[in-house]
Amino acid sequence: MRLIFLGPPGAGKGTQARVLEERFGAKHVSTGDILRANRTAGTPLGREAEGYMARGELVPDTVIIGMIEHELETCAAGFIMDGFPRTLAQAEAFDALLARRGWDLDAAVLFVADRATLIARLSARWTNPRNGRTYNALSNPPRVAGIDDDDGGPLVQRDDDRAETVATRLAEYEAKTEPLVEYYRRRGQLIAVDGLLAVQDVTRALLGALGLEATSS
Ligand code: ADP
Ligand code: ADP
Repeated sequence: MRLIFLGPPGAGKGTQARVLEERFGAKHVSTGDILRANRTAGTPLGREAEGYMARGELVPDTVIIGMIEHELETCAAGFIMDGFPRTLAQAEAFDALLARRGWDLDAAVLFVADRATLIARLSARWTNPRNGRTYNALSNPPRVAGIDDDDGGPLVQRDDDRAETVATRLAEYEAKTEPLVEYYRRRGQLIAVDGLLAVQDVTRALLGALGLEATSS
């Protein structure tokens, strides 16, 4: 399984990537999670990225492409790219990295959701900063508010999920990432999924579109 997940912030990419990773063993690669882990650890990569992230802007392509090149070393069993590529330059560099390995992409999956839903979801998103797992105060709350069901540690609200920063992130998406929809569509690799459905129904639609059996959730 070699997939790209495309879509605006809050569309449900991370949620579905986790489901597929668990079920099919392909590696969930979230560039946002990797950047946040580097920021927390205070690495040079994290320090370079943090200003862009705080403003809701994209981190420069060279930084991201270097990160992915490294990450692909761990993707022999397949991958689900969550939030990468986000620019045409990243998509072209990724094509070259895949070609070098002789790896084909199965599909680029676009999660479709309207702006009002995205804003509502992000303002209610709670994240486990240790592994990137997300909950939603409205649609998918943890058993105990503010606490992860599995590891019992605290959940946080991401700084960049605040309304002002979300507006910048959506504008970045429209200007720089949306053109990728056409890029993959032209190559016959685009699959669009309705991101407004309930989580399990999105999974079912996704597996159906990929021609994979939609077994139990
Ligand atoms: P979302 O939940 O919106 O999909 P992410 O966790 O994927 O957010 O990304 C958070 C931030 O990390 C972005 O706003 C951006 O600053 C940076 N980032 C993540 N992935 C990329 C990428 N592929 N290219 C550039 N910047 C990125
Ligand atoms: P992305 O990775 O695209 O930014 P997430 O997977 O983090 O999006 O989801 C954003 C928020 O919306 C999270 O709080 C998540 O729990 C919630 N969410 C994800 N998918 C759905 C869905 N199908 N219906 C309702 N809420 C959802």
